Amino acid sequence: MARVLVAVGSCSDAFGLAPLVHACRAAHWTVDVAWFGDADGARDAAALGLRPTTSGAALPEQTGARRDAAAIDFLARTAELLPPDLVVTTGHGTLARAAGTWSLDAGVPLVRVDAGQRSGDAADRTERRRRAADHAATHWCVATDLQQLELAREGLPTSRIHTVGSLLPAALAALGAPAPVPPFVWLALEHADAGADATALGELLARVAAAARAHGLPVHAAAPGLAPALDRLAIELPAGIELRRNLDARGQLDAARRARVLVTDSAGYQALAAVAGVPCLLAAVTTARPETVRSGASQLVGARGERLPEAFDRALQRQPAPHPYGDRDAAAAIRAVLDAIVAAPDDARPTPAPAPAGAGPTLPSDGDHTGRTLGDDEVALVAVAIRSGTLNSTRGTFVTAFERAFARWLGTRHAIACNSGSMAVHAAIAALGLQPGDEVVTTPITDMGALTPILYEGAVPVFADVDPTTRNVTAATIAAQLTLRTRAIVVTHLFGLPCDLAAILALARARNLPVIEDCAQAFGATIGDRKVGTFGRIASFSLQQGKHITTGEGGIVATDDDALARRLFLFVNKAWGYGDPKPDHTFPALNGRLSELQGAVALAQLPKLDDVVRRRRAVAADLRARLAAVRGLRLPDDPPYGTHAYWKFAFDVDAGVLPGGALALGKRMQQAGINCVPRYVQKPAFECALFQDWRRAPVTWLPLQHNPRRDGPMPPFTRDGYPGATAGLESVVVLPINERYRPDDTARVAAAIAAAAEDLARG
Ligand SMILES: *Cc1c(COP(=O)(O)O)cnc(C)c1O
Repeated sequence: MARVLVAVGSCSDAFGLAPLVHACRAAHWTVDVAWFGDADGARDAAALGLRPTTSGAALPEQTGARRDAAAIDFLARTAELLPPDLVVTTGHGTLARAAGTWSLDAGVPLVRVDAGQRSGDAADRTERRRRAADHAATHWCVATDLQQLELAREGLPTSRIHTVGSLLPAALAALGAPAPVPPFVWLALEHADAGADATALGELLARVAAAARAHGLPVHAAAPGLAPALDRLAIELPAGIELRRNLDARGQLDAARRARVLVTDSAGYQALAAVAGVPCLLAAVTTARPETVRSGASQLVGARGERLPEAFDRALQRQPAPHPYGDRDAAAAIRAVLDAIVAAPDDARPTPAPAPAGAGPTLPSDGDHTGRTLGDDEVALVAVAIRSGTLNSTRGTFVTAFERAFARWLGTRHAIACNSGSMAVHAAIAALGLQPGDEVVTTPITDMGALTPILYEGAVPVFADVDPTTRNVTAATIAAQLTLRTRAIVVTHLFGLPCDLAAILALARARNLPVIEDCAQAFGATIGDRKVGTFGRIASFSLQQGKHITTGEGGIVATDDDALARRLFLFVNKAWGYGDPKPDHTFPALNGRLSELQGAVALAQLPKLDDVVRRRRAVAADLRARLAAVRGLRLPDDPPYGTHAYWKFAFDVDAGVLPGGALALGKRMQQAGINCVPRYVQKPAFECALFQDWRRAPVTWLPLQHNPRRDGPMPPFTRDGYPGATAGLESVVVLPINERYRPDDTARVAAAIAAAAEDLARG
């Protein structure tokens, strides 16, 4: 018979796990419950169905690492006495994390129940703890498929993640029917004291009180999270809200399932409300449980309760939806998982799962919410778009509104949204109406999305070298490539550093050549007192995931020229003149439109853009200051003629001072858990296969048949002709930074760079 140790560190853990413990005991397993917490809590846990077998507690002065150590020690002593075949945990308390460390040491499998709960904000303390506890386990039981996906996405082995439904319905059923009481609103703000600001909390409380008053309902508030916040922020409770101070865990659970409406910021309460059929208004997007929002059991009302009045009315009108966890017997399903682990001990040996971060806490990443400004505003506008039922821009309003707002932000007459930055460049090239074999001078250090459009339009990309220190094209390098067939110039403001445009524009004017500014990496960079993107004939931007603002994929082109604007619009609309008296498809063009869903996100993102640029500049300034004393580095800075927008922090490594140069330094940084890209794209664009053999596809071959260069060497571009690009790539380390970096993040990055440099200098 299997012996299972259930490690419980809070009453909600106890409540949630009770059905599993009963099911295991019914199958004649030996189940020991290890309680780590105070004696009152142990009593509460027993009242909720889990009587502790052993108990321990940290001393009052033990906090942080000491507390963790005490918990590990307690588990070790318990396990010595009652050697388990496996350990089960849930929640995110001290014991849950200690169990991870202990089980790894002891070689005992660790199963996490209700794993994979993720909130939007990875920097949040609870969230970090939950992730750490999940990542220390060897097997996972999750309630929903989405949670399984979350864990798999974080690199945990899918074969050990089991979707089993939720233990909550059984746990609630075990409490018995609640006694009927007069209707009231239950306000449970668990995280009220964690970083709340007084105005936001005050507004939320006022809105709750007002909505309840309008319906003649009293509001009862749980005290644990709220009382300290009220004290600290010196907020008075509005009339009509009454604090319930002395409720035990059972009392709070009862209140939550008896309430007419539950207002909360807690993930646990949302699930409880969904199962109990109590409408839930959620005042924190970061703790939203997607399954309860999707089932309609929870409604997002904003941290200040902005949308609370309407949501409150709706909540009172609606019939409770069936809860989103299905009617599966989760206890039996988990027991089967435990059974299989005990039966196949070899497979069950803990292998350390990949840590959620490299060394230390994760740096904010533009690949997910940690390094992006996506949140409540975007959710709200997307919800409006969806409810409107119109998801395409030809009938909807979000894309159009975004285009207008963007043009205003940039300072151009027109802006046309499209579905990628590549499409934006493509539209710009197409709008120029080039002929086969026409030449477009561009840069060999850029995104391929800026180059292929030239081929698609039957033109020949001709690469100008770059300045090795700015990695941008210059008037001199462009002039060296001009021929009688040159028809346009494309400049990329690489990494957010504006090109030295004055001389380039003068050259272009003299030769009557249009300049396209590729601003995909340079939102908000300036030259003089104007933003880049307002100097050339057309400017292109990308809204791809990693750019300053994002819609996942997306792009936008801008111009002051009415006729060009018309062609840009037609190019992303299959050349169909929507709104024309007699529209016709006048030239070959695809559907490159942005959808209303993305338009809604873009519209919510745009007001944040200036702040994003400001913050990135501050992060860069901080890094520069911290790295100023490190020898052998050349750090990015504003050019004399403008300001840098810091899409990335690209710095150069002098291999003469730091042996091994960019490659060696970057490798050491990566080993220290700092994500970076030595040498950026590795090679100049013309060395890509596409340009190495022009006959790869009709679209690449065609232009050369109409170009005198076809008689020259194939391909005409080799590294020898590009010393600037070669040197500029050789020495660069590209450090991804973003607007969410905090001083401790830059400190950590700078320390890693300094340590790596010192290591290299020592040889
Ligand atoms: C990102 C980028 C593009 C392409 O944008 P997508 O949205 O990825 O198609 C084009 N040019 C530059 C300079 C870029 O950085």
